[in-house]
Amino acid sequence: MEKGTAETQLKETESVTRQYAVRPVHSKGQGLVAMSKIRKGTRILAEAPILKVPRHASDLQAVSSIIVKQLRTLSRDQQTAFFELHNAHGKRHDPPLGIMKTNVPPLGSDSYEGGLFLTASRINHSCRNNAQNTWNEKIGCITIHAVKDIEEGQEVPITYLGQAAPYAERQRSLRNKFFFDCKCELCSLPQVKREESDGRQQMIQDIDESIGSSAFGGGIEIGLKSVRVLLELLDQEGITDTSIPRAYYDAFQIAIAHGDKARAKVFAERAYAARVIAEGDDSPETTKLKRLVKRPTEHLSIALAPLLPQQPGKMARALISGCGCKASHHRSAIPTKRQRQKMQDGLDTRTAKSLRF
Ligand SMILES: [Zn+2]
Repeated sequence: MEKGTAETQLKETESVTRQYAVRPVHSKGQGLVAMSKIRKGTRILAEAPILKVPRHASDLQAVSSIIVKQLRTLSRDQQTAFFELHNAHGKRHDPPLGIMKTNVPPLGSDSYEGGLFLTASRINHSCRNNAQNTWNEKIGCITIHAVKDIEEGQEVPITYLGQAAPYAERQRSLRNKFFFDCKCELCSLPQVKREESDGRQQMIQDIDESIGSSAFGGGIEIGLKSVRVLLELLDQEGITDTSIPRAYYDAFQIAIAHGDKARAKVFAERAYAARVIAEGDDSPETTKLKRLVKRPTEHLSIALAPLLPQQPGKMARALISGCGCKASHHRSAIPTKRQRQKMQDGLDTRTAKSLRF
């Protein structure tokens, strides 16, 4: 990125972000702190990357050269801010590479590029996050939205994890990928409360992973009941991020695949409204949902509806695992959990914060 462009974008970012400040946060170094009450759905930050690097590159020397070359184009202030960022890799790599590996999220779920954001990189993790991060391809920025009302003085954390998980699994993932032990509100619950929460987190994970097969193989009411249970569990766990629009989108797909256009429209509206809260009304994913609200029958699953009542068993098998003929027409009708996440999250960056070269 050219120096002038990056500086202009930084100034633009600063002009709209008086609602937060980067401050020292107890036991976490620096973090984002609300300077006034921030209402749920507010866009807290929209920031363009100041550096971009290829993900999955095996030649670390080449990646280092790319980073150093781009660093030279930055202003002195930006360079200073860059070297002040956390480096979780110690002396395993040169500082620029270590800093990038610690702080660079992918620019979209399937992107071959990662980007460094001077402000967004300061945002800490919490398993009970009150903000959602998303890469918004349309505006070329990472966006941070409040997914709960945030009080003045409260920290603004996102989650670095891709899905709900019990305490031990969360700690393992965070330690392996991000090298820290989480002591957030959820991870600090007393034993009994933690066990109750773990049960719900596990159920959320299980439903999320099985919703395609149970929903489509078992009929519309069973499918929608799974989504209802999922939404109740998310509510009990205080999860208000993109898990909500994803659940409504599941309900939409179940309804439309069974030809229930009326309920499909309602679920599309709810998915859209929840997605606006987490990403704003200008994200590519929100735009797609807006189209579905107007024309729910444009969705792929509507083509399957006539087959469901007559051949539920056959359809369920085709939907879930493909018909075995290896033709693409039967595959992918009901996506796997990962495919669903990609479709629904689109450019959501929450699944992987760290760059894997
Ligand atoms: Zn935690």
